[in-house]
Amino acid sequence: SNDQWELDCSELTLGQEIGSGQFGLVLEGQWKKRKVAVKTIREGYMSEDELREEAKVMMKLSHHKLVQFYGMCSQCSPLCLVFEFMENGCLSDYLRARKGSLSQDLLLSMCVDVSEGMAYLENSNYIHRDLAARNCLVSNNNQVKVSDFGMTRLVFDDQYTSSHCSKFPVKWAAPEVIKYSKFSSKSDIWSFGVLMWEVYSEGRLPYDNRTNAEVVESLNAGLRLLKPRLAPDAIYVLMEWCWKEKPEDRPCFTILLHELASIS
Ligand code: ADP
Repeated sequence: SNDQWELDCSELTLGQEIGSGQFGLVLEGQWKKRKVAVKTIREGYMSEDELREEAKVMMKLSHHKLVQFYGMCSQCSPLCLVFEFMENGCLSDYLRARKGSLSQDLLLSMCVDVSEGMAYLENSNYIHRDLAARNCLVSNNNQVKVSDFGMTRLVFDDQYTSSHCSKFPVKWAAPEVIKYSKFSSKSDIWSFGVLMWEVYSEGRLPYDNRTNAEVVESLNAGLRLLKPRLAPDAIYVLMEWCWKEKPEDRPCFTILLHELASIS
């Protein structure tokens, strides 16, 4: 039916708080004997109708490198979204906590995992719009999956959605996104290059101590993030490819996945 995305509240048990997201609290929970993560949506933060439309689309996206969306409970207050539970939390925290002990094999496999999930989104004609290590999650067997796809589009808070505002993730954004809000799979690719940089920097913040305005200025001057110490040359070549000024000069995820898989 059209309502597959609507979950029955009575089948959902809420547990302890595991995090606080941009939209509201994230709780541990149980749904049909499965451990799940429940994202509560602060009232007035998103359009409920748009969220319903997005839920329909998200239900159709299913891949082992995407954090699975199980559905939404719109009878609940606050409204909540139910996702696959990822034991090891978000990728950026994971990297920082294990700094100094991450093997080359693991760093590479993380990039491969994310590019697999993203190649699936690209082939589904779905743009993520906010790809970053903070929006990927890690499973109990250290697999990385892509999360939070498409969600930023629904936020009312223009502090986050306008590239000129303080909360906009400029450091992950392609030049055409910063200039004209032109999102595409090629702008996701740019963000993926920054995500690779985060992985090989073990969770450091890109352009640390630089303001958004300074970052925009140095990108305009043709400068890019430097090669992280742990990144092999072949990996840095791929990052630089993702950061080509013109979207059409960047690779697509299918090709990038192929390139990554051939490095080892
Ligand atoms: P937002 O992107 O809205 O700011 P997050 O999705 O990052 O919020 O959620 C906040 C925190 O909740 C994450 O850092 C992570 O620790 C936890 N979390 C979110 N989703 C899951 C999930 N599916 N499984 C386990 N933990 C999760």
